[in-house]
Amino acid sequence: MENEYYVCTGCGLLCDDIEIELDDGKVSKVNNACLKGVARLKECNRPAECRIDGAPASLEDAIIETARILKEADSPVIFGMGNSTSQAQKNAIELAKKTSAYFDDTSSFCQGPIVEAILENKIRTCTLDEVKDKADVIVYWGADPSNSHPRHLSKYTYFPRGKERQRGWEEDRTAICIDVRKSDTATICGDKFYQIPPQADEELLNALTNGLSGKVPKVSFGMGPKKILELANMLKKAEFGVICVGLGLVYSLEEIEPLVRLMDKLNEVSNFYLIPMVGQYNMRGSNHNLHEETGYINRVKFTGNDVEHGAHCSVVELLRKRTVDAALIIGSDPMSSLPGSIAKELLDIPVITIDPCNTLTSRKAKVSIPVATAGSECGGTAVRMDGVEVEFKAMTETDRMCDAEILERIMGEL
Ligand code: SF4
Repeated sequence: MENEYYVCTGCGLLCDDIEIELDDGKVSKVNNACLKGVARLKECNRPAECRIDGAPASLEDAIIETARILKEADSPVIFGMGNSTSQAQKNAIELAKKTSAYFDDTSSFCQGPIVEAILENKIRTCTLDEVKDKADVIVYWGADPSNSHPRHLSKYTYFPRGKERQRGWEEDRTAICIDVRKSDTATICGDKFYQIPPQADEELLNALTNGLSGKVPKVSFGMGPKKILELANMLKKAEFGVICVGLGLVYSLEEIEPLVRLMDKLNEVSNFYLIPMVGQYNMRGSNHNLHEETGYINRVKFTGNDVEHGAHCSVVELLRKRTVDAALIIGSDPMSSLPGSIAKELLDIPVITIDPCNTLTSRKAKVSIPVATAGSECGGTAVRMDGVEVEFKAMTETDRMCDAEILERIMGEL
């Protein structure tokens, strides 16, 4: 009998070679996944419960109460999405239109600018399968995939043999790490680890662009022109190079133009691509779906058929300025992830959570709606970190509805 493979929704790599064993209808063993994936695919430690004002409630009542809150709100926000299927994201966009809501996702404070530049064709990208088959120079910049995406190096970018890289990693690929600290990925890269001070990424991007343009590259920290030129030469000689951009690089740049300029220069003298190290399994799907609908990837407000966009529509600004009077949070835990001074504003407005797990946000929410976990209990599609659409099926059955269905039910009550 042929093996049946499933997809892991533990991170934006969406590994598609997962084998499982079931015991009494529950996932008891997961093969091929990393520890992070196993944790995602087994049940939440504390599954979410259906509650209104902290008291147990029926799903029906929770859906009706959610619709009432959204209808009565003047300025609701719908936020989260990175851990939702593409269908749920599309439904959430429809719901935002119907309720004249703000709509934002976690990319507005992480990889959003990079995905936006890719969708606007400012930066050249490629797929992970192409990296596996062709890449000879891989740069992990401000990224530590050994911990954030544990199978990134082994499944796609460094260790595997590919069609044009048959001799394996030691002979066929050069892995370079640029980071502020010696991470596990930096250790794997050995003497190709370039340590830089915090906030020095822009300087190094500019210095590399200068080095590749025949100018003497200079930086204010302890990396001399010889060392920068040695790095620039490795990039220049690539037959197929890729920069895997992590949050360390994104957070240190005020704007991404220095990165765009380096990519342009690299593609004059060499052949380079960029892949964002997207964390949540379908954050990129949220960007793609909203972009298709509005031309923007995040931070929008719907008013009828009109769409407003800008930094003022980001969830952080909306909460900081107390612009919103209700929040629907889907598959996200902003009370844990946002700075306390911002997250505390959620305590003053009615919050609804749609999540498989009991989180700090769901415990404080006015309405908490439990849903099936996408990947293990619920099928759908998602967009992998490299922009490839991946379809996945449920591993087990559950009584709980998928988030896409819950959102449809809420729309039906409006
Ligand atoms: Fe799952 Fe990511 Fe681990 Fe792959 S690397 S098994 S997608 S958590």
